[in-house]
Amino acid sequence: MLTPNMHYAELKDSYLFYNISRKISNYTQENPDVHLYRMGIGDVSLPLCSAVIKALHEAVEDQAVQETFHGYMPECGAPFLREAISGYYAGKGVTLSPDEVFVSSGASDELGDILDLFDVTSSALVMEPAYPAYVDANIIAGRKIYHLASGEENGFLPEPDSEIHADIIYICSPGNPTGAVFDRRKLQNWVDYALANDSVILFDAAYEAFIEDDDIPHSIFELPGAEKCSIEICSLSKTAGFTGTRLGYTVIPRALVRNGMSFNEMWVRNRTTKTNGVSYIIQKGGAAVFTPEGQKQIHDNIRVYKNNAKVLMDALDKLGIWYCGGKNSPYIWMRCPGTMSSWEFFDHLLFNVQVIGTPGAGFGSCGEGYFRFSTFGSPEDTKEAASRLCALL
Ligand code: PLP
Repeated sequence: MLTPNMHYAELKDSYLFYNISRKISNYTQENPDVHLYRMGIGDVSLPLCSAVIKALHEAVEDQAVQETFHGYMPECGAPFLREAISGYYAGKGVTLSPDEVFVSSGASDELGDILDLFDVTSSALVMEPAYPAYVDANIIAGRKIYHLASGEENGFLPEPDSEIHADIIYICSPGNPTGAVFDRRKLQNWVDYALANDSVILFDAAYEAFIEDDDIPHSIFELPGAEKCSIEICSLSKTAGFTGTRLGYTVIPRALVRNGMSFNEMWVRNRTTKTNGVSYIIQKGGAAVFTPEGQKQIHDNIRVYKNNAKVLMDALDKLGIWYCGGKNSPYIWMRCPGTMSSWEFFDHLLFNVQVIGTPGAGFGSCGEGYFRFSTFGSPEDTKEAASRLCALL
């Protein structure tokens, strides 16, 4: 008899967004005319910038003409986009050859697929609270998972624990949900730990474009030694509003080798087996992000989200509430008032001031007692939500 992958039975039900939408729909059924201030979503609200739209239109036209028509694209990405991305890294002082950059259809897909590069007996370390996909992808694969707790005492940025030997280490900086960012020294500690333990870091840089402080690395490859122990997974979703358009990239340096096996070459083999690449049109749109005009326009949009963050941070400062994130990140992670649990605080905000956020408990047990605000909403709603928070608390 066929045995399905029984590890699926070990997955915890994902109550978080289901519960949020159930509570919201109950509330709106009872209060159909009340406007809700949605500070919970991780999706962007601004449209694609004009440089990207122009490139997308042109690429559509290319597909209508025999001479410029493109069929299957190279599985690892179009050379024009791999070059544009390696040029972007050069601007951060990181030298990559285009064949160390792999174009993907988004970070989520890659975070799951990349585990094909590791033996099932390898263990994974996840810093909690964490983006839920890290844990779930490893449960599905049947791996041992170490949960490394973090909290206010270390600014939600845990240090390596010499008692734990993990093969795969997830680092997300700027972090989701906490918005916390690893500075050079703290990140170097993890690179040194990975080198000493023969581990591989999966560095999730989905929010790197929000970094504004000089001592915060945008890429793990800014740190010496990282090229021998890291894979970087990135996305244009939040950087450039591609959540619905779908495009990302993954960097696997040629120097990343274990047991005589090159991770870069294994990933080429993996991609050429499991994908037929990302569409020409989308890759053309993505390449426009890395032009000077595209960079200016996406940063104009990011500035709108950063202003939202400032409005919310000012409100929390005024209220004397502890929080992290917001500055180099689109997320603000605040301590719930008094002894309120994160779900109690969710209800408190929804019922009293119609503001919606995300309960921290949904991101792992050390998220209990905390609450996440996203800054991707509209400026008008964010201002009103901030003033309602001040009035309530
Ligand atoms: N990594 C983190 C930390 C995220 O928060 C998200 C999306 O919210 C992703 C990856 C997935 O991004 P993508 O839209 O590229 O799949």
